[in-house]
Amino acid sequence: MQSAGIIGDFAEPRPWKHLPAEQQPDWRAHAAYDEACRSLAEAEPLATHVEIGRLRQSLSTVTTSGTLVLQSGDCAESFSECTDAHIADKLRVLDQLADRFSDLTGSPVIRIGRMAGQFAKPRSQATEIHGDQVIGSFRGHMVNSEAAAPAARAADPQRMWRAYQASSKVQRAIRNHRRRPGVPAGGGPWSSHEALILDYETRLLRRDLITGGLCLTSTHLPWVGERTRDPRGAHVALLSAIANPIGCKLGPTATPDEVLALCRALDPHHEPGRLTLIPRMGRHQIRDVLPPIVRAVTSAGYPVVWLCDPMHGNTVVSRRAGLKTRYLVDIITESLTFRDILDGHGQHAAGLHLEVAAGDVTECVGGPVPDEDRLSHRFTSLCDPRLNPEQAIELVEAWAKGVAAPA
Ligand code: PEP
Ligand code: MN
Repeated sequence: MQSAGIIGDFAEPRPWKHLPAEQQPDWRAHAAYDEACRSLAEAEPLATHVEIGRLRQSLSTVTTSGTLVLQSGDCAESFSECTDAHIADKLRVLDQLADRFSDLTGSPVIRIGRMAGQFAKPRSQATEIHGDQVIGSFRGHMVNSEAAAPAARAADPQRMWRAYQASSKVQRAIRNHRRRPGVPAGGGPWSSHEALILDYETRLLRRDLITGGLCLTSTHLPWVGERTRDPRGAHVALLSAIANPIGCKLGPTATPDEVLALCRALDPHHEPGRLTLIPRMGRHQIRDVLPPIVRAVTSAGYPVVWLCDPMHGNTVVSRRAGLKTRYLVDIITESLTFRDILDGHGQHAAGLHLEVAAGDVTECVGGPVPDEDRLSHRFTSLCDPRLNPEQAIELVEAWAKGVAAPA
């Protein structure tokens, strides 16, 4: 049962409450549900109104100034990797990539981590098979455990509070890193995650008493994922109601009409910096699917930031080990095709949304990982295959050189 009246630290209309919401855990009958929700509702904001406003301000100049954006991090963060050392490694790799991107292109780069809250995963399949058992899918550390046992996969609302605490620690490190000397204003790093679990996100809504703006204080830049971007659904309604800059993934089935409906909901006042559209269509689909969408959004006058996610449309299952993987060549091809399409329509291709590990993993094929046989050496992702730093640098270099996309 929903605990009455506890949504953030205010009582007001909640348009998303009665709308359909995909991908939500069934945990309201759990003994710890009310307490977890109450703790979140009373908690300090993770991202402040001022910070959120700053990121929005700096995204508002991307299109006119030619500034680039690099959004990057794990597919799914892990509670066990929220140590000081792991966080420092992640920030170091984000900086390395962004610095290289900036050096090669001559443009400033706004850095945004998939960090400090990327603990919930939407899943296409509700269950998976392990040996002779069918168990619930792993849904991110905010919901359950990756251990392959039925009990570990039960949704536990106490994990929302652990996710908040882990996020708080990561957010502190991000803030300290942003404040170090010599960092250009607005350049970040900032935090971002998919705003998926409504029980968590809605309890971290806070109204700014000075400006009156409603912010989602779980992160600086929340995005709505491919599986929950129904323009009439709860996730879009929630993001419509907040003052944060927001992102929206667009998969290969997206149509111009659907994207216009999303723009109307998410950026009704046509405000630069408000909405970042993130196509993730796949190297083969992007050529056909993206151009009519860019034309529709441009002619309707939505000043969106266009960011390419070349990861999620290019996932394949490796032939040998049956592991999910991605080929660097596909990732590079989609990125360059994206850039060509945006350039061809006179629009600014603002950069990349990536899944990159801080360590030397072997999850994607290409560069230092010559073939699928190497994948099982260091495959540590909790969810999707990430590039390692060397592969990610190769991608950034390919973007900067603008090498023609291979056939
Ligand atoms: C993700 O970014 O990890 C993800 C699940 O993306 P999408 O919603 O685009 O599938
Ligand atoms: Mn992913």
